[in-house]
Amino acid sequence: MDRARRRKFGQNFLDVETAVAIAGDLPANEGEAVLEIGPGHGALTEHLLNRGVDLTAVEIDEQCVAVLNEKFGERKNFHITNIDFLKFDLQKFLDEHDKPWVTGNLPYNVSTAIIAGLMPRLHLTKGFMGMVQLEVAERICASPCSKNYGSLSVLVSAFADTQILRKIGPEHFTPKPNVDSATMLLTPRADALQAPEGFFDFVRAAFTQKRKTLANSFGSAYDKKKIQEAIELLDYPTTVRAEELSPEQFLEFYRVIVQGE
Ligand code: SAM
Repeated sequence: MDRARRRKFGQNFLDVETAVAIAGDLPANEGEAVLEIGPGHGALTEHLLNRGVDLTAVEIDEQCVAVLNEKFGERKNFHITNIDFLKFDLQKFLDEHDKPWVTGNLPYNVSTAIIAGLMPRLHLTKGFMGMVQLEVAERICASPCSKNYGSLSVLVSAFADTQILRKIGPEHFTPKPNVDSATMLLTPRADALQAPEGFFDFVRAAFTQKRKTLANSFGSAYDKKKIQEAIELLDYPTTVRAEELSPEQFLEFYRVIVQGE
């Protein structure tokens, strides 16, 4: 039962030494609000609470919630909600808290959905510092023209400055995951892109056949002639590929194609 539960909820618990190091990387001070996603048995929570931050934890598993209440229920700076983070009313939380930090050793099966959901509201936070699978962190933090650069890199870097902080091997968890992990820092960009609705679907479509030139990489999602005209208008080389465009260039390209600007 426990094993099934751990797999279902992506539960890999951190050892104390690593948890202390990661909690130390979160630049939150006494009295500041922190939102922790997936606290598990409280490996990070404990060190953050000891620092005096005002911590709200969101945990899907009621067994973990019982453990956390047992450990920290008496502390005034600890608050917990037993809910799937993807159903958590993030906007309400952000309305009620002044620029919180967001953190967590994220469950790997939903980490991309959590990060993607957070990005358009990142400017209402001080940022995110937390852990995902190493491969996901590398995709998120990749620069144009590098091998990991893709639609996730564009989505995140439209809103955030990104940085990988630590690589963490499976030996630091119980049970050991099959993959390496990494922590990353995502801070709100002062010049975040004003991305219109539909922009990220466009970016995802551009990477559908990423080995091909941009004129061909969209498949049938957009009119090829329009794409070729836009490439010409913007003076891009005819051989340009999706992986060469920065988020700003993607937005410029989108405006020409979809909005006719
Ligand atoms: N923070 C703990 C640690 O580092 O030891 C646990 C991290 S574990 C990788 C992920 C945690 O997220 C688990 O406690 C799991 O129950 C919780 N979780 C999984 N899916 C979730 C979801 N959709 N919403 C909130 N919590 C979730």
